[in-house]
Amino acid sequence: MSAPLELSLVIPVYNERDNLPVLVEEIDRALTARRGCYEIVAVDDGSTDGSLDVLKALKREHPEIHIVAFAANAGQTAAFAAGFGAARGRVVVTLDADLQNDPADIPGLLSELERSGAAAVAGYRVERRDSSWKRLQSRIANGVRNRLNRETIRDTGCSLKAFRVEALRALPLFNGMHRFLPTLVRMQGGRVTEVPVRHRPRRFGKTKYGMWNRVFRALVDALAVRWMQRRALRYRVREELP
Ligand code: UDP
Ligand code: MG
Repeated sequence: MSAPLELSLVIPVYNERDNLPVLVEEIDRALTARRGCYEIVAVDDGSTDGSLDVLKALKREHPEIHIVAFAANAGQTAAFAAGFGAARGRVVVTLDADLQNDPADIPGLLSELERSGAAAVAGYRVERRDSSWKRLQSRIANGVRNRLNRETIRDTGCSLKAFRVEALRALPLFNGMHRFLPTLVRMQGGRVTEVPVRHRPRRFGKTKYGMWNRVFRALVDALAVRWMQRRALRYRVREELP
C-alpha cells in the first residue's frame, strides 16, 4: 500500500481518445501547485476507440495516472465506483474526460470544500455549452429529480464535484446513481454545497446519452432514490455494553 494522497481525480473514460492528452495537460497546468500530492484515477469503461492505449502512453510521462480498465462497458456509475475504490486521496474530485468540465475549476472546488467544511461540493454549469435540445432534456431531468427527491441541487448532471473520501465509502451505488451523488451523500447525513463552474462544448467524440437514458431513466432512478430516502435506516444507539 502506498501513502495516502491529498487528492484523487476520478475520471470515467468511454471512447474519449482525442480528449485524453489535452485533459491530462490541462490537469497538470491547473494543479501545478499540488504536484506530487494528487493522482488521476482514469477508469476506462470498455472503450473501443483505443482510449486505453492512449492512457497507457500518457502514463509513461505521467506516473500520477492510475488506470483501471474494465473488460467491457459497464456504465458511468460503475466507472465512478471503481474509481472511488481505487482512490488513495483524502479528497476525491470527479470530472468528465471529454473536456466539457474545465480542470481550472478544481482549485475553487477544493477551497469551497475546505471553507464550508461540507462533505461534498457540487459544481453547477452557469453557461451551459450544449445544444438547446440537450439543455432542455437536462432541465427536465434535474426538475424531476429535485421534485421527487425534495432536493435543491441545481445541476447534478454536472460531473465536476468534490467529496471528502469518507462521504463516498458507504454510498448505495447502482447503475444511474452517479447523477444522485449529492442526494446520496445527504441521505447519509453529509452536507453538500454548490459552486458555479465553467462548461465547454464537446470538441472530440460524442455524447453517450440521449433522450432515453437522460430523461426517462432519470424519472425511474429518481423513484428508486425516493424509495431509498423513505427506507433509509435511522437509529440512534443509546448505550452499548460489550
Ligand atoms: N462515460 C462512461 N461510460 C458510459 C458513458 C459515459 O465512462 O457508459 C463517460 C464519458 O466518457 C464522459 C462522461 O462519462 O467522460 C460523461 O459522458 P458524456 O460526455 O457522454 O455525457 P454528457 O456530457 O453528454 O451528459
Ligand atoms: Mg460531456
